[in-house]
Amino acid sequence: MVMSVAERPVRSDDVSELRARLRGELLGPGDAGYEPARALWNGAIDTHPGAIARCQGSADVLAAVRYARDAGLLVAVRGGGHNVAGTASCDHGLVLDLSPMKGAQVDPAGRTVWAQPGLLWGELDHETHAFGLATTGGIVTHTGIAGLTLGGGIGWLMRKHGLTSDNLLAVDLVTADGQLVRASAREHPELFWGIRGGGGNFGVVTAFQYRLHEVGPTVLAGSILFPADDGGELLRFYRDFAEAAPDELATVLNLRYAPPLPIIPEYLHGVPVVSVVVCWAGPIEEGLRVLEPLRRHGRPLLDLIAPKPYLAHQGTFDATVPHGLHYYWRSEYLGALDDQAIGTLVEREPLAPLVHDHLPPRRRRRARPRRGGRLHRPHRRLRGERQRRRAPRGRRGAGCLGPRPRPGAASAVRRRLHELPGRRGPGPRPRRLRTGQVPAPG
Ligand SMILES: Cc1cc2nc3c(=O)[nH]c(=O)nc-3n(C[C@H](O)[C@H](O)[C@H](O)COP(=O)(O)OP(=O)(O)OC[C@H]3O[C@@H](n4cnc5c(N)ncnc54)[C@H](O)[C@@H]3O)c2cc1C
Repeated sequence: MVMSVAERPVRSDDVSELRARLRGELLGPGDAGYEPARALWNGAIDTHPGAIARCQGSADVLAAVRYARDAGLLVAVRGGGHNVAGTASCDHGLVLDLSPMKGAQVDPAGRTVWAQPGLLWGELDHETHAFGLATTGGIVTHTGIAGLTLGGGIGWLMRKHGLTSDNLLAVDLVTADGQLVRASAREHPELFWGIRGGGGNFGVVTAFQYRLHEVGPTVLAGSILFPADDGGELLRFYRDFAEAAPDELATVLNLRYAPPLPIIPEYLHGVPVVSVVVCWAGPIEEGLRVLEPLRRHGRPLLDLIAPKPYLAHQGTFDATVPHGLHYYWRSEYLGALDDQAIGTLVEREPLAPLVHDHLPPRRRRRARPRRGGRLHRPHRRLRGERQRRRAPRGRRGAGCLGPRPRPGAASAVRRRLHELPGRRGPGPRPRRLRTGQVPAPG
């Protein structure tokens, strides 16, 4: 069912009426707390909602959705606020801010957790790892679990355990017509299928249930930096190495300028590098053996790979993506890291601002269908997100700290990648949840 209603801006009488129906705060422009509450991770997004409902639980979500539906308001839903395009907010509409909802209930014996949508990955990991358990989560601890899960979710554990959405067992969700439903493989299965990667437009999730796995607590992880001059040969080696590696190993490849982090010696700051970040979540001795060819290869500038707590490794990238900077990111799908793609990536001088490649799981292995039609193996093409709004001219930043790269380098690389055979078009544009445009389940 698709309903269509006109949307109008929030008025002052909406603020007072809705405030009376909520346990959480309702913030309007001018209220103390409104300014910090409207800020998103990406400082380039500068939306001014008509009201922000700081929901404390499902009852607040139900009340806000029902009110917005009856009043015909534009609604945006906020989890961790990390969506680069700012889809968690809107101008003049009602933002359902779920960030106060941070409950988590772990079932260590059953290896599951129920988690509320305001949790960030570092917070959920903290709760589950108290029992030595984790699920595939984002690689930055201050990313929200909600948006990441609904978009698919890639992370260090995905090669072994699948995407975050593959580990999703059930959700509680408020539909646009104001009903709270549970969706799982058995209840509302089509709705459940849609939210596992389909994004945030199917309703407002008030709780996620995940499958958990034994992880660590010690993993073998860290970065190894090579000179960008060795890029072509190195990327070809990396491709073959990563493809053949056991599922316990996940890697992230960066072509970037070495960031000015304390763990990186000062003489390397700003130097163009190829960095391979690894996480081996298996027996450490075996990991040392598996990683040896990578660590012995070429002329590494710096090798930071070492046994460390899984939770410490989860925070590796945190300092490189602080809140409030003006970010501009684009994502592309690349079916294979073939020689032609590698040539395009490395021929640019200086580097593209940031080429961030999560290597897909082993490509040649056949995906095994699971009950419900999902694949045990994560998708070969990983879903990215595109930014609709551009950062203000002159304040557009690369997704990395360090020297500003040559203007136009990134778009030239993207153009060349598009020309490669077998390229797919860009992914779907992110959309905001609008009441009245959401199919009700069942
Ligand atoms: C620094 C950084 C690191 C990242 N790392 C990873 C990574 O390792 N792996 C990965 O897969 N992705 C990663 N991402 C992408 C990230 O998954 C998305 O940006 C995701 O949208 C963030 O979720 P959020 O809850 O913080 O975002 P929000 O901006 O709050 O929400 C994102 C979208 O989901 C919707 N939404 C949020 N909560 C709900 C809910 N409860 N019900 C219904 N809809 C909802 C929102 O309306 C919005 O459209 C990263 C992003 C950043 C900025």
